[in-house]
Amino acid sequence: MSTDEEWKKHKLSQLSRFKGKLFQASDYSAPSTDWDHDHCEGCTATFAEFDGPEILHSGYFTICESGIDDSKTPEFIVEMQEQGCEVMAKPDVKSWICKECFQEYRAILNLRLET
Ligand SMILES: [Zn+2]
Repeated sequence: MSTDEEWKKHKLSQLSRFKGKLFQASDYSAPSTDWDHDHCEGCTATFAEFDGPEILHSGYFTICESGIDDSKTPEFIVEMQEQGCEVMAKPDVKSWICKECFQEYRAILNLRLET
């Protein structure tokens, strides 16, 4: 198997959990100043608001409810709560997919796009 095929298979396995999910096309916006970038779930391309080599500024996202373990509050939220900030215990976690991966796996994984 060629490296190219292995890479495609890897991306497919990474993206398979999004099968049938509804995505929205959007410009990337950072969730917070500490959390200023995300990665494509398929090819790990970087999404951010700042400019840089190979930085993407828009793509497709879906809200991932099932990815959060209810019994465990993420560490950065605990820290913020300790500092007296009102923070939602369960923030919406967006999973991002770049345009290239979305187009490539849209049909295979039945990815839906909100219109
Ligand atoms: Zn990608």
